[in-house]
Amino acid sequence: MSWSIPLGRVLGTEIRIHLTFLLFLAWIGLAHGAQGGSQAAIAGVVFICLIFACVLLHEFGHVLAARRYGIATPDITLLPIGGVARLERIPEKPSEELVVALAGPAVNVVIAVLLFLALGGMPAPEAAVNPQDANHALLARLFWVNVTLVVFNLIPAFPMDGGRVLRALLGYRLGHRRATEIAAQVGQVVAFGLGLWGLLSGAPLLVFVALFVWLGAGAESQAVQMRELSRGMIAADAAITRFETLDVTASIGDAVEKLLRTSQTDFPVVDGGGRLRGVLTRSDMIRALQAAGPGSPVLEAMQREVATVPHRAPLEQAMIAMQQSSGPVGVLDGAGRLLGLLTQENLGEMLLVESARARAPRQANPWAR
Ligand SMILES: [Zn+2]
Repeated sequence: MSWSIPLGRVLGTEIRIHLTFLLFLAWIGLAHGAQGGSQAAIAGVVFICLIFACVLLHEFGHVLAARRYGIATPDITLLPIGGVARLERIPEKPSEELVVALAGPAVNVVIAVLLFLALGGMPAPEAAVNPQDANHALLARLFWVNVTLVVFNLIPAFPMDGGRVLRALLGYRLGHRRATEIAAQVGQVVAFGLGLWGLLSGAPLLVFVALFVWLGAGAESQAVQMRELSRGMIAADAAITRFETLDVTASIGDAVEKLLRTSQTDFPVVDGGGRLRGVLTRSDMIRALQAAGPGSPVLEAMQREVATVPHRAPLEQAMIAMQQSSGPVGVLDGAGRLLGLLTQENLGEMLLVESARARAPRQANPWAR
């Protein structure tokens, strides 16, 4: 998700704000401004920011719970539909996943209880109908927003927390993979129901949420499948070992020639000792060709920060490294020399083959281990 701007770091987690969220704030401001002038516009934007403070605290509920199990959270992104905390990994133990999933909504329960106490009783339910209506007290509206956040997040569908709660509960009996499959199916049924309801009642926002839930359910079951398939494999199993490299003395012209001659798009730059010094991608090449011409050295155009893993590392570790660097990962031998390259494409092919292999009948499978 690169369409987001970092706001700062709290407890080791970077808080990012997605550009669509800024657009959403602008839209709220304009919509309110058109109705009630600049003061209404400011009040509208302040209210949305308060809602997102509650969402952010919710995400930190997950972050702190995950930390208890040694799981770090590199970043949280704020989107118009809510926050997304990107955990380093999802706990597979049902009891841990249950705690991490429930910790978010629990924060909103606490906020709602505090607001309830501050208001000295149950706020008028009318404030819940249209939380943007400034005729109701700010805290009363915020109370209902938190109640809604709890209910909404406990919908039993991925990527909502309720989906994770459901998987954790199923996981006690069925195991992680089967529990994910069932939870994802339930999620898609719920998403279909929400979408239908949204269409029939003319609520476009609901249709949008349904679409988001539908995609989330599919993505989650795919991610789990990938993790299951990669289990027991090492980085070297999935790496390409036949590829063209560039010497540290090569020019952009040499690189372009290799680009045209092969189907490769990313070229590792390797020194005389076989050590990886960087990677030159096709776009780096084109940029350098325009800016400095074919005679310029690849050393100046290449990307120096390349993720690497030892060849015996679990494939899952390499996949995480690839996700974090969003580029190819170098696979190194025991002496630190470049042995192979792991790209998104060959990883995809690898998993395709593995899933076919897993489905093939045991006897007719010549590769059976
Ligand atoms: Zn949550």
